[in-house]
Amino acid sequence: MQKLLCPYCSVGPSDGQARTLAAAGDRLTVTWHLLSCPHYAADRVLAGEED
Ligand SMILES: [Zn+2]
Repeated sequence: MQKLLCPYCSVGPSDGQARTLAAAGDRLTVTWHLLSCPHYAADRVLAGEED
């Protein structure tokens, strides 16, 4: 699994509070975010996980 740094909050597994998974071609990527990161909210909408 490939780990990507969010360009907005730039947190990693040690200091991230939430993560999103995405399939990119035949690879799975994981991106960590702060809970307040707008990119995290956007990723959840794209993944259909919006509550
Ligand atoms: Zn982020």
